[in-house]
Amino acid sequence: MKYQAYGLHNFLEIPQIEGITENYRKAIKIVGSVLPFKTNNYITEELIIWDKIDSDPIFRMNFPQKEILKKDYFTIMEKLQDSGSNPGEIKKTANLIRMQMNPHPAGQRELNTPRMNNKKLWGVQHKYSETVLFFPIKGQTCHAYCTFCFRWPQFVGISNLKMALASTQSLIEYLRSHREVTDILVTGGDPLVMKSRFLSKIIDQILQADLSNIRNIRIGSKALSWWPYRFLTDDDADELLRIFEKVNNSGKRLALMAHINHPREMVTRAFKEAVKRILKTGTQIRSQAPILKNINDRWQIWQRMWRKQVNLGIIPYYMFIPRNTGAQHYFAVPLAKALENFRNAYSSVSGLCRTVRGPIMSASPGKIQILGTKIIQNEKAFILQFIQGRNPDWVLRPFFARYDENAIWRNDLKPVSGAEKFFYEE
Ligand SMILES: *Cc1c(COP(=O)(O)O)cnc(C)c1O
Ligand code: SF4
Repeated sequence: MKYQAYGLHNFLEIPQIEGITENYRKAIKIVGSVLPFKTNNYITEELIIWDKIDSDPIFRMNFPQKEILKKDYFTIMEKLQDSGSNPGEIKKTANLIRMQMNPHPAGQRELNTPRMNNKKLWGVQHKYSETVLFFPIKGQTCHAYCTFCFRWPQFVGISNLKMALASTQSLIEYLRSHREVTDILVTGGDPLVMKSRFLSKIIDQILQADLSNIRNIRIGSKALSWWPYRFLTDDDADELLRIFEKVNNSGKRLALMAHINHPREMVTRAFKEAVKRILKTGTQIRSQAPILKNINDRWQIWQRMWRKQVNLGIIPYYMFIPRNTGAQHYFAVPLAKALENFRNAYSSVSGLCRTVRGPIMSASPGKIQILGTKIIQNEKAFILQFIQGRNPDWVLRPFFARYDENAIWRNDLKPVSGAEKFFYEE
């Protein structure tokens, strides 16, 4: 299959689009003028079930729904478009709305970007001592955009793309003086939108630098789900697999951190073939995804997903809670409900699936796992723990938060028994 992207400018060319209602088409146009929209012919031809789009999870993950924008915002944009306003005016209003959607949650970039020679090393993030994130400049888009993505500001151009500036050489220089780092996580966007020859350069430079502290190179990607032909029939698919092989033959391990939200992403021949080809190179595939209302907020879906993954040779890794940005109101699942889903799914699968950890809030102080609930001193509480912390000393020290069945993120939580702060805020 040859890649064909669709966005706001050409989505009317999607053959199946004629069959959907005017309401859906309008939602694409209006929501898509505020939040990023991009899909492709694999998704439209092989994944979406067009006569069931009212409930199709793939359609919802990829095509903007009316409710993704809060009602007032939708109405404002609708009026502007209906009255034939000029593109400049539409863009200005869209930007104002975007700024209301918390485009820079927790100031992560400022906090996590390390310094080298007294300069910020943009394009590198170092938050947890063992793992450094690398954002190569050519890997900052995706084969298709997810409607729930927390990196949405980057794709509409309001996030500062200086984020993706570091050269591989400066990364290497940084790693030479940070011997505690064992893992490089190449991420984006999706680094696998990059042509193999560019990725090859990056990987070669890393391998040739002979950094003995680096044991694992991870690539975070949704290409398996949104464009599996990246590993099959793209011009440089074979070259990509040879890069994977090269890493594994060098004595380091390549891990593909695959983003998979729903078992429906795994049913196509292309997906299964791609997994087989990747595994043949000695690469590990691990899976992670947020739990999302209207998409995968039933435990049976996770049970099916983890079983299917283990069946194909994929290792379940994380269940996340959606971050406090963008269309959180549409996708957020209360922490209590996420926990219930996780417990039900986890307790109904074999140990091979229980490599998964969750539900987890990847937040400013660290990755916080919700372990369970408990009555302590006549008060119902969540038991939480860090599995990664900005301060490693916080890890695996269970702590409590007042139970709140509506809480959807960390900032909704309060310490128990009148305490002012959580232990890590002291
Ligand atoms: C999740 C995450 C990592 C990787 O953590 P692991 O526990 O090694 O999977 C690294 N850096 C940041 C900023 C993260 O959010
Ligand atoms: S593939 Fe990943 S980075 Fe890209 S839109 Fe989806 S969730 Fe966001």
